Amino acid sequence: MSSIIQLLPDHVANQIAAGEVVQRPASVVKELLENAVDAKATDIKLIVKDAGKSLVQVIDNGNGMSVTDARMCFERHATSKIRHAEDLFTIHTKGFRGEALASIAAIAHVELKTKQEFDELGTHIIIEGSKFITQDPSVLPKGTSFAVKNLFFNIPARRNFLKSETVEHRHIVDEFQRVALAHPSIHFTFIHNGSELFNLPSSNLRQRIVAIFSGKTNEKLVPVFEETEIVQVNGFISKPEFSKKNRSEQFFFVNNRYIKSGYLHHALMAAYEGLLKDGMQPGYFIYLEVPPNTIDINIHPTKTEIKFDDEHALYAILRSTAKHSLGQFNVAPVLDFERDPNLDTPYHYQNKDASTPLIQVNSNFNPFAEDKATMNFGGSIYRERKTENAHWESLYIGLKNDTKEIESFPFEQEAVSSSLFNVTEIEESKNRTYQIQKKYILSSIKSGMMVIDQKRAHQRILYEQYLKNMTVQQASSQHLLFPLEIYFSTNEIHLMKELKAALENTGFIFDVIESDKIIISGIPIQVTESEVSIVLDELVNDLQDGIPESSFSQNDSIAKSMARSLAVKTGTYLTEKEQENIVNGLFACKEPDVSPFNKPTFITISVDDLDKKFAI
Ligand code: ADP
Ligand code: MG
Repeated sequence: MSSIIQLLPDHVANQIAAGEVVQRPASVVKELLENAVDAKATDIKLIVKDAGKSLVQVIDNGNGMSVTDARMCFERHATSKIRHAEDLFTIHTKGFRGEALASIAAIAHVELKTKQEFDELGTHIIIEGSKFITQDPSVLPKGTSFAVKNLFFNIPARRNFLKSETVEHRHIVDEFQRVALAHPSIHFTFIHNGSELFNLPSSNLRQRIVAIFSGKTNEKLVPVFEETEIVQVNGFISKPEFSKKNRSEQFFFVNNRYIKSGYLHHALMAAYEGLLKDGMQPGYFIYLEVPPNTIDINIHPTKTEIKFDDEHALYAILRSTAKHSLGQFNVAPVLDFERDPNLDTPYHYQNKDASTPLIQVNSNFNPFAEDKATMNFGGSIYRERKTENAHWESLYIGLKNDTKEIESFPFEQEAVSSSLFNVTEIEESKNRTYQIQKKYILSSIKSGMMVIDQKRAHQRILYEQYLKNMTVQQASSQHLLFPLEIYFSTNEIHLMKELKAALENTGFIFDVIESDKIIISGIPIQVTESEVSIVLDELVNDLQDGIPESSFSQNDSIAKSMARSLAVKTGTYLTEKEQENIVNGLFACKEPDVSPFNKPTFITISVDDLDKKFAI
């Protein structure tokens, strides 16, 4: 029989291999950014168009490449980073396989411009689907620019497989953030479709985290530090009260490389034991330094898992370090942004004489003054809200003392809820309702009785109300005397911009959307000032995986999210009036049977059913 085995031509082999390295535009972003870091750049610019589908470009001021290297770098297994197999055990660079550029060039149009510092001229190369088109000398600044256009142009199946722009964009931002967090001393800029999303000047780690995740992040962070023989732990974790519902602010880096580790995550969660509410996630930015020969770095380039020699010890060290920091800083005041955390323990004061503390007295304070409502808590935005008991407003009034921390200042609370004593009213009302376990409302109906889930019912009522506001009628909004400033991360700001129009239909009035905060001068009448940030936080959280394309489903998502945030919760005591409002409100709805999330809102139990129970 004749021989049938053939070597695949290079461009076919490259295309196949490319599938492993380049899964989506974000993979290109990662590889190009890491190459720029390896080239010792101090300034790296990422330019992206159409979530990377049309362009991913990285410009750096690093070492650049010689004429020969510029051509060589597109060959498979062409790398300047290792020479011998033993080098694998001492790797300090991000790349080392020499696969990325060959793979990218196999499935895109790539333009490379590069120049080394002392060369007079640089090199300009165009390569398309592994084919060199041109290579010319060119006048260029020191450094390298890779522009990757039309990704997957020759693999339509892959191109079609890409997710929506929002999803691909998210992946790119994730990769950018990981590299930027691993290298705070490098200046990074990220421009998407012509607008600057991030501009992160060279800084220390804390400032880098804050620059990425908005100004309010600073007060959340508690430093962690530990040095042992096998590992150095460095970084920040968030105070428990700032935990979030999602895991978007959790980062592990090992030797400045972003990794995922369920095991180490578990170690950190163990440190927070007993400090977090159910389902809440702390933020963490943990940097581990280990000797390169104690980890198995020889992992696949796109994988973020890693194998440690001594995992158990790492677990224990990480847990106790985090626990220690939480204990130490939980009671301490918020750290100053500019202040060096090392100076926070003022040892040099130890031998000083104590001075008389200064006490500030407000001589105008009159304890009998009526005007408590306008009392300002240290400049905070919370003011007691005075509203008439409009139909729906009354639903909320009973909730305050139960759910809102800010309302539970002792002097604000009524001594005893007067409704507690209304039980003495024995008058028989036909529509009398009862609340059971602060969860269900029981109501007598003609055929027997009805049990209503208070949370789901209220969700349904609010959902229909918001949807109506957004689609049919002009929503009314209450103007705020003092505009609210709410901080968001850059991703979240991006989302808010896209949702602006839809949110304005619910009654929000946005004055300004800046790069890290929004200023709101009007809010929907159903929302109180102190609820605004909760509502918006939950909204961006609910829409993390992408905003629906059509405006109808956008409205629908917003209405659902707001209904969920603002509906009475299980465990909330309701006055009889409030119970009645829920029952009436529910049955005035178009679809009273189910919550906006398709769960039953009530069940009925007929007298027959009851009779059967008693027949036994
Ligand atoms: P690896 O990073 O694994 O070595 P790559 O395919 O990503 O493989 O890159 C191949 C080589 O091209 C690198 O080893 C490096 O020498 C060179 N190179 C790539 N990008 C740059 C850059 N931005 N600046 C200077 N040299 C670069
Ligand atoms: Mg590389």
